[in-house]
Amino acid sequence: MIDLKTIKRELFEKGLTSEEVEERLKKFGKNELPEGKKETLIQKFINQFTNFLIIILIFASIVSAVFGELIDSIVILAIVILNAILGVVQERRAENALEKVKKLTTPTSTVLRDGKVLKIPSSEIVPLDILLLEAGDKIQADGIVIKEVSLFVDESMLTGESVPVKKSVCTSEPTEDCKVYMGTTVVKGKAKVLVTETGINTELGKIAEKISETKKEKTPLEVQLDNIGKLLGILFLIVSAVVFLLGWIRGGKILDMLLTSVSLAVAAIPEGLPAVVTIVLAIGVYEMAKRNAVIRNLPAVETLGAVTYICSDKTGTLTQNKMQIIAVFEDGKIGNDLNISERLKQAMILCNDAEKYRGDPTEIALIDFVDDDLIKETREKFERISEIPFTSESKRMTTIHKFGENFLVVSKGAAEVILELSKFEKVNSIVSELSSKRKQELLNIVEENAAKGLRILAFADKVISNLNEAIEQDLVFLGFVMMKDPLRSEVKEAIDKCRSAGIRPVMITGDHPITAYAIAKELDFPEGVVLTSKELESISDEELTKIVENVTIFARINPLDKLRIVEALQRKNEVVAMTGDGVNDAPALKKADIGVSMGLTGTEVAKEASDMVLLDDNFATLVSAVFQGRTIFENIRKFIVYLLSCNIAEVMVMFFALLLGYPPPLLPLHLLWLNLVTDSFPALALGMEKGEEDLMKRPPRGKKESILTKYHYSIIITQSIAITIATLLGFILSYKRTGNLNEARTIAYMVLVISELLRAYSGRSFEGYLFKIGIFSNSFMNFSFIFGIVLLFATIYVPQLRFIFKNTVPTIIESLDILLLATLPLVISEFSKIIRKDEYGR
Ligand code: ATP
Repeated sequence: MIDLKTIKRELFEKGLTSEEVEERLKKFGKNELPEGKKETLIQKFINQFTNFLIIILIFASIVSAVFGELIDSIVILAIVILNAILGVVQERRAENALEKVKKLTTPTSTVLRDGKVLKIPSSEIVPLDILLLEAGDKIQADGIVIKEVSLFVDESMLTGESVPVKKSVCTSEPTEDCKVYMGTTVVKGKAKVLVTETGINTELGKIAEKISETKKEKTPLEVQLDNIGKLLGILFLIVSAVVFLLGWIRGGKILDMLLTSVSLAVAAIPEGLPAVVTIVLAIGVYEMAKRNAVIRNLPAVETLGAVTYICSDKTGTLTQNKMQIIAVFEDGKIGNDLNISERLKQAMILCNDAEKYRGDPTEIALIDFVDDDLIKETREKFERISEIPFTSESKRMTTIHKFGENFLVVSKGAAEVILELSKFEKVNSIVSELSSKRKQELLNIVEENAAKGLRILAFADKVISNLNEAIEQDLVFLGFVMMKDPLRSEVKEAIDKCRSAGIRPVMITGDHPITAYAIAKELDFPEGVVLTSKELESISDEELTKIVENVTIFARINPLDKLRIVEALQRKNEVVAMTGDGVNDAPALKKADIGVSMGLTGTEVAKEASDMVLLDDNFATLVSAVFQGRTIFENIRKFIVYLLSCNIAEVMVMFFALLLGYPPPLLPLHLLWLNLVTDSFPALALGMEKGEEDLMKRPPRGKKESILTKYHYSIIITQSIAITIATLLGFILSYKRTGNLNEARTIAYMVLVISELLRAYSGRSFEGYLFKIGIFSNSFMNFSFIFGIVLLFATIYVPQLRFIFKNTVPTIIESLDILLLATLPLVISEFSKIIRKDEYGR
């Protein structure tokens, strides 16, 4: 523990120097907690073999090696290993992508170093650093409070106690009520903290091992797929058993048929489906992060596609959060020339936490035009001795300054709030009483200017002789400052996109209802009602539920009202995305289906409560994240439909051939090779498909809609039948014509592989014709096609492989037959899009 008495006061004012920080970083290490144990590559590789079918396959191939089929058995093992390696590589890729995304939102802290206020990655905090904390911060080290203003800390993370704890300044021996701990959060107030411990030495560090063992939870999608996979698994196992029996009855060798049926099961059972989904989700999330939308919680990607409501903050999200003073109302008149009285200017400088270029944009705007020396002089002359910080609930801020023997109180805030607290008005240096008629006149001026989309702050002050007096009462109203916050240029288009995508945008703001209305109008928000916090207070939850869908703007809102709004919308079965940045937004962010926090202005607490962080705070980014969420979901559907139709076809080919009295059309090696070529790569390529343009012209997916609907099953059925017929036709016609089983098998094998590779192209869109979406526009698909064809041809044209696979080289006529048959499923798929379009009227 650090002894406070030995520490120089200078440290409290200036913080450490960069040299000291460097030394201390070397000595104490980074301020990080140990991460949970990671699986090694070897462990991952071994995990690939925990599948019971693979074990049977390995076992069967070893048995067959013992009985003389050595080459077959080695090749089977080789394919199994190759598959496992592919599995590991994909898993790593997914993990890497997610790790990179996670790094984008590593927490930061504000510290005092070399006399300057800096924002640094929290991992660089060292003991003796001076941390500057404010509401919404997550405390990133242990320390003792050396200065504070109404500091309250939520320590539930450590103690389980959910009521925030008041902390005060440590005077002599530090006690519990002046110490703060890593992992806890500041819910109110501000503080300066001297860091005592970092990393593993903090209280949290001591218990970190226990909490770092996070369990990987399956997303709802993965659970659904697990279920589909299990169902098909059982079905295919039964069919494989029947194939085994049929083959054996028809005179096949028991061991051969065992290998065949197990290979069939391995090839057909979509055991890898959840894994592919995870990869596609991970890569999708990575792509989204590149576009400034960082997903913190994987299932959120699915939910994004189902969002029906976007409730957005105004300042910074719809607007640029770059305030600029447009006009000032003082002494009974409005001026545009910033020629303002000393008294108002003084209030703007004093009741203000900003430096020239650092701080809250509203406050920066207030001193932007003032000379640096004047700011310094004024703040030195009227030393601030106390303050009541701004909160979104109180909508005002008050500071108290030394003023000779007396004290100067300065308040600024929302117009109606400050007028309510004012008893007098200053006009041309004369202070007179404010009548209620005059107050109304002043409020009318506010409304007139708010209608221009301006943000209006009121200022008031007074002098008191005794700090026990009521501070924020009987103030002298000084004037209004009117600011413009330019709109973000991309937002209007994004609102338009929302509307055509069946998503309703709603504005939730702390600002004046008329200002909010003017801005909503400019941005083309849908028509609707404006509701304020006051009105919200007077209606019950049921009443709110009834009217909530008619409201477009919630103005003068307290952050805690957001929770009620989310709940009301959810009672209406809406899927709600809600933005927020402050500590009091956290409950609503947690409750929303998609809680969205702000990367630039958001507090750590809000970020932690959210499912997604917008790195650029931009509404348009949120809308494009919805588009990407829809795309990813649609792509997952595409590859599931593709995989299932291929796998079902493989099973049907084997089953019907045997049922019709033919020998198995595919050998175990064919089946396993097929699995390698057609399963993972084309499926992943479908997962990478770019979003289709009309995705944002459709209504959102139903919240409860399962991953596969009747619509998708109908595609699976037609496609699997088409592939089965093409393959069986090739096999049976050739077998009947030549009586050469190897030749017939080669044809079946080639038709099956090529038709699946070609069909994958058509599967790139459920409704868009291939020639319209651009045949070669998905380069992953082109790559997987070429890769598949090379692997296929290798087993036909490389003599050694041909021998092992018992293939023959097709004649020219046969090659043409193969090509013709293999394009059949593609053609059927494209034609069925016409019918589907009619049916859905899209
Ligand atoms: P949004 O909720 O869309 O971000 P907002 O920024 O206006 O909108 P708040 O920050 O909660 O919302 O501010 C609410 C009101 O409080 C503002 O309209 C303004 O009148 C007043 N206000 C804002 N910032 C300050 C401040 N630093 N000091 C005093 N009053 C402020």
